[in-house]
Amino acid sequence: MHTIETDYLVVGAGAMGMAFIDTLVTETQARVVLVDRNHQPGGHWTMAYPFVRLHQPSAFYGVNSRELGSGAIDQVGWNKGLFELATAGEVCAYYDHVMRQQLLPTGRVTYFPMSEYRGEGRFTTLAGVAHTVNVTRRVVDATYMRVTVPAMRPPPYSVAPGTECVPPNELPKSRAHDRYVIVGAGKTGIDTCLWLLGQGIAPDRLTWIVPRDAWLLDRATIQPGPLFAEEIKANFTAQLEAIRDAVSIEDLFSRLEEGGVLLRVDRAIRPTMYRCATVTRAELEQLRRISGIVRLGRLRRIDRDKLVLDDGEVSADGSALYVDCTADGAEKVPATAVFDDGRITLQSVRGCQQVFSAALIAHVEANYPDDTARNLICEPVEHPDADLDWVRNTLSDYRNQLRWFDDPELTAWLSGVRLDLFGQLVGHRLAPASAKPRVRERLLSMTKTALSVTAEKLESLLADGACNPSRY
Ligand SMILES: Cc1cc2nc3c(=O)[nH]c(=O)nc-3n(C[C@H](O)[C@H](O)[C@H](O)COP(=O)(O)OP(=O)(O)OC[C@H]3O[C@@H](n4cnc5c(N)ncnc54)[C@H](O)[C@@H]3O)c2cc1C
Repeated sequence: MHTIETDYLVVGAGAMGMAFIDTLVTETQARVVLVDRNHQPGGHWTMAYPFVRLHQPSAFYGVNSRELGSGAIDQVGWNKGLFELATAGEVCAYYDHVMRQQLLPTGRVTYFPMSEYRGEGRFTTLAGVAHTVNVTRRVVDATYMRVTVPAMRPPPYSVAPGTECVPPNELPKSRAHDRYVIVGAGKTGIDTCLWLLGQGIAPDRLTWIVPRDAWLLDRATIQPGPLFAEEIKANFTAQLEAIRDAVSIEDLFSRLEEGGVLLRVDRAIRPTMYRCATVTRAELEQLRRISGIVRLGRLRRIDRDKLVLDDGEVSADGSALYVDCTADGAEKVPATAVFDDGRITLQSVRGCQQVFSAALIAHVEANYPDDTARNLICEPVEHPDADLDWVRNTLSDYRNQLRWFDDPELTAWLSGVRLDLFGQLVGHRLAPASAKPRVRERLLSMTKTALSVTAEKLESLLADGACNPSRY
């Protein structure tokens, strides 16, 4: 048994663990022990399907101290005209560089790959060596978001013998099939449909099992830098106006769609899901070419001749290739206190912005006097799942942002944080750094008023929706 002394024991070298450590070692002299069962940093990216890319621009992803990508604008493909999206390979290489060129050379980070954490400060390496870590400050749980990708587990439905059902990882290696059945309507399902269409497969050769339709985000409204400033300002204004004018939750979603804030594949189907999936309008047009969409709830069984779903059955082509895209890449895990005695549980403190959140939590850990103050700044925002979660997340984001605006030190820190999507999208645009202090103050105050009024309206819409569920 080996015993190690450290200030922080971080469990999980995924995107959140890496973003946390990067900011912590930048802002403190702390020593960190990092344990992960994988052979390399990057978490779920090390098991991703080969055609996955970031869903949002590389500019907002990774660790705060190091750019990801070259800031290029795509010249081809369905993301044309928008900032580049790193591939899984690029993300993994990036984390490898962060580890080997930045974190390890500090001499304060000790990394144990291929090591299983067993709780109570104990872990075992691949070589079978047991370690006990004596932690002077905190154990940081960077596994709490429980990311699952299809390659990590078998499909959650039964598959008749002789039927081919693969995770998207296997799709590029599979032989050609006459028919493809894509199971799942989250971002992985969308990526898989787009990949098949991109290979020139006719849309009538695809069947798409869509248990729930989703509200989607328009990637053109999530772009860094001045190039998209006007478009993004218009989108944010449209969001605020939609909320201001909405008379019910249903009306709110109609207005958000009219204002281009939310998109959907089929304009005749009201989405009941929202999971921050992001597409371009060109991708949306592609998805709309698929007419073979099965909307009968979740798939329960693939027989040779039929598919059994929650709400019915459809005939099946036994020779089709089934692509399982049903894993929960962003599970809605219950929020828990981020700072709790000797523990930090990394969670989103801004909806669907996990890496930014992890960096912010590290900054707060390093700079705030006690856990009450820290938890006040770091109110967790659960991953969204249902459509109503768009409303809840937006409300939580506004409330958190308002608290952060009230803290001048934090506002100053945020203005230099590359991962801060809201700051880049809205804050700095409304109050650009080049503006005179008085102008900045006035613009900031106007933003705070707008967020505060809008948050109140969201609260009343939610309360109204809860009292009159039949209306929604
Ligand atoms: C396909 C996909 C695309 C995405 N695209 C974007 C995007 O464009 N922009 C964006 O902001 N977010 C995106 N996300 C979300 C994103 O990846 C998050 O940043 C997310 O929170 C994942 O990182 P994580 O560190 O929380 O979890 P993980 O990646 O799951 O990392 C957790 C780590 O903990 C380790 N671990 C768990 N238990 C143990 C144990 N007992 N012992 C040792 N090690 C353990 C695991 O091996 C793993 O390495 C995407 C997610 C998916 C699935």
